[in-house]
Amino acid sequence: MPQAMHPQASDLIEVFSALQGEGLVVGLRQLFIRFGHCDIKCAYCDTPLCHVDLPRARIEVGAGNRVFESWRNPVPWDDVFFAAKRLVDSGPRHESVSLTGGEPLLHTDAILALAPRLRGLGLPIYLETNGHLAQAMAEVLPVVDQIAMDIKTPATTGLPPRFDDNRAFLALLADKDVFVKIVVGEGMSDEELGAALDVVAGVAPKTPVILQPVTPHRGVGTPPTPSRLLEMHALATSRLPHVRVIPQTHKMTGQL
Ligand code: SF4
Repeated sequence: MPQAMHPQASDLIEVFSALQGEGLVVGLRQLFIRFGHCDIKCAYCDTPLCHVDLPRARIEVGAGNRVFESWRNPVPWDDVFFAAKRLVDSGPRHESVSLTGGEPLLHTDAILALAPRLRGLGLPIYLETNGHLAQAMAEVLPVVDQIAMDIKTPATTGLPPRFDDNRAFLALLADKDVFVKIVVGEGMSDEELGAALDVVAGVAPKTPVILQPVTPHRGVGTPPTPSRLLEMHALATSRLPHVRVIPQTHKMTGQL
């Protein structure tokens, strides 16, 4: 990984300010640090740049102005902090900083280095993760405030499930502010959804769960019909107390 060659720098895709479009914090203004690379390849992935070695990252100059500088990868962590501080200083109040990707847990050294400094700007640390790299999660646990954890299922990702890894991951988060997101699609059976729900039910049943209808991307992904979505929600609420259906709203509002 480039990170190993440059221990004080990380590959980024972009840094910008926008409205969060997913999960329990939907609609809040966040500062986004989008790390490069991912350890899996979901069929519906809408961040294709995480699957290539990106020579340069785009860095927003003012919060939400969509004027970007092009910085060479890997970006030194001091410069990542500078980019974040510049957005914070440029005006609107941000509720938190979203460490996202790609998979941000491939960058634990960067998270450990940056999170205390970002907290110093008054920004809680919000981590968006694919939810199976338990050892990496354990490393950064003390410096993360809120976690959006995916449980991936074959019907939407096209990948084998990793429910045992998901269980180990969620078990680490007993004292944390965490919610689980399950992307649901037309072809997902009750058995498959039930298996994902059972991860939560078996480890931490009070964890809020978001069923997120898949957003078609480049012709891939079909969301459940309205009636099927109601069936899925009913199945989930029969097993767990806190379940909501929330689609990706940033696609509707033209956010990044
Ligand atoms: S985990 Fe996220 S970033 Fe990685 S391939 Fe899946 S959707 Fe894309």
